[in-house]
Amino acid sequence: MFEDTKKCSIGLLEFLDEFPLVQKLIPRIGITRDNCIMCVQFINEKPIEISFGSKFISEDGTKKEEDKNIYFHAGDEQLNAESFGYHEGAHVLAALLKNNGMYSDVEICKKAYEQIRQTQLNGISYEDAKLTISDYAEETDNELFAEAFADVYQYGENASPFSKKIVQLAKMEYNAIKR
Ligand SMILES: [Zn+2]
Repeated sequence: MFEDTKKCSIGLLEFLDEFPLVQKLIPRIGITRDNCIMCVQFINEKPIEISFGSKFISEDGTKKEEDKNIYFHAGDEQLNAESFGYHEGAHVLAALLKNNGMYSDVEICKKAYEQIRQTQLNGISYEDAKLTISDYAEETDNELFAEAFADVYQYGENASPFSKKIVQLAKMEYNAIKR
């Protein structure tokens, strides 16, 4: 198995350790031909599988040159593949919050921005705030949410303040779920 694929699994397992309720929502692990190293497959907004991208599981352990563009995190050079697994865990957490009537990933991102816009973000626009996390965070607010987790996982205290606020609010929602 390709080295990065193993690392993705580690990131996901660490996520599940931190947010154990998410485990119940991941029914199976599979393989996809999609252009991802690891992704969550949804049907009708319900997570059905965590998939590994087949092209990254090569027999000789090498990665094709053209696949380098999947490394999308800010600070490319220090990328750690574990953060991909952590990112995917965050997508499933978003589904868990939604199922339990908590704030959605999109709402959490908007609230986080409003709370720190004038203070820690120096009044920058929502779009510019996303770029303090990564280029990929710009794709959709769902990706913004997951990238915030990857950012905090990878950079800890040095993560973007926007990421830290998103993760903090998400944890509050998670902790408020009735068990
Ligand atoms: Zn994603």
